[in-house]
Amino acid sequence: MQIFTCPFCGPRPETEFHFGGDLGNARPEGFRAVSDDEWSRYLYHRRNEKGAVREVWMHMTCGELFAMERDSVTMEAAPGHALHGDAP
Ligand SMILES: [Zn+2]
Repeated sequence: MQIFTCPFCGPRPETEFHFGGDLGNARPEGFRAVSDDEWSRYLYHRRNEKGAVREVWMHMTCGELFAMERDSVTMEAAPGHALHGDAP
């Protein structure tokens, strides 16, 4: 089992976390004015990069969202850090 580090609770088993998406994939504003193509890009088009990625995760135990850098090849994860205006 992999261990992720919540910036608020410390190291915890990966089963306590939920993936929140790519960091920087901002939800389009004003959903009635957003085109289907914009929603599609927001919801489904992912970069799927190989190597270092920056993601948003939620620690289900404390309910906090945070940013975490992870290597998508080795699955190595750096300790998470609180979001400060760089939320998705
Ligand atoms: Zn936590």
